[in-house]
Amino acid sequence: MKALVKKSPELGIWMEDVPEPTCGTNDVKIKISHTAICGTDLHIYKWDEWAQRTLELPLITGHEFCGIVEEIGPGVTHYKPGDRVSGEGHITCGYCRNCRAGKTHLCHRTIGVGINRGGAFAEYLVIPESNVWPIHKDIPLEIAAFFDPYGNAVHTALSFEMVGEDVLITGAGPIGMMAVAICNYVGARHVVITDVNDYRLELAKKMGASKAVNVTKEKVSSVFEELNMSNGFDVGLEMSGNPAAFKSMLKNMYHGGKIALLGLLPESTQINWDQIIFKGLQVKGIYGREMYETWYKMTQMLRSGLDISDVLTHKMSVDDFQDGFEIMESGNCGKVVLEW
Ligand code: NAD
Ligand code: ZN
Repeated sequence: MKALVKKSPELGIWMEDVPEPTCGTNDVKIKISHTAICGTDLHIYKWDEWAQRTLELPLITGHEFCGIVEEIGPGVTHYKPGDRVSGEGHITCGYCRNCRAGKTHLCHRTIGVGINRGGAFAEYLVIPESNVWPIHKDIPLEIAAFFDPYGNAVHTALSFEMVGEDVLITGAGPIGMMAVAICNYVGARHVVITDVNDYRLELAKKMGASKAVNVTKEKVSSVFEELNMSNGFDVGLEMSGNPAAFKSMLKNMYHGGKIALLGLLPESTQINWDQIIFKGLQVKGIYGREMYETWYKMTQMLRSGLDISDVLTHKMSVDDFQDGFEIMESGNCGKVVLEW
């Protein structure tokens, strides 16, 4: 089968002919129809320090996917060939304390599809039945292709009470943009988003941001008066991974505010702890998606009117994957989807 493989430790990803994966007793084999490129895939493509430290090569890349069930193992009970599906790319151990308590997003032995085992940028992907998620007929496959980052946005945005709250999102990447739509959908009062890229800020506005602030030109607090905000933000969603963004978030939070950290901040990040301590802020780290409550909410919100379709800015054949990676690298895009 065709697959996008990271085969050597240098810049690039290559289309290769590789053996098809085989379906074990409790596995589902999926014929991939659409995949999306994640920032993580870009790290792998560039072969940066994180990729060098984390991956064993060769590796079939990719973890944002959807497709049609092709084959099921003899132990599979809930899916049949022909079903439309996506799936959770974190494969958990099932036996640790958190897994057994039903909190599998906190499993300390998680294995990542397309990172620690073969990925979804291929004609076929095999994953355990318990990781497969059904895609309702009302949801287009090209949207289901990026359920993984949509799930990151949902997990983060639903971490705290939103009704009537003023929300600051730092980072208008695909996840930040989707979070704007979700916060509005669940009843936030104002959703302000920041970035350094005007293309992305425009898109975030289209997705419903009350204000989209380019922090290279304007201070976050400059929007307070127009939005009739006196004291700062009630909820902060850090989705840039940029220390300066996190610092300015802390400064602009109201006392008693709540912050969810999704963006991957460098170890060297320094903050003014007074902002957290004297304001009594709550800070929560977010990893992946809750299995499978986040997936349930993702599905039902889309089926009842949440619209994230504007985040999909580029669609192309997988044969043009090189263009896809270059568009991602430029930053002037939302989600880039590859059709298989
Ligand atoms: P992205 O890199 O596309 O988006 C980040 C955005 O932040 C970019 O648009 C960038 O221009 C912007 N930015 C840079 N400096 C900024 C600043 N000073 N102020 C405001 N914005 C600034 O990433 P994404 O795919 O949308 O993901 C968002 C973040 O979440 C990334 O850091 C990613 O690594 C992380 N992530 C974490 C998890 C998890 O499970 N914790 C999962 C997926 C992604
Ligand atoms: Zn576990």
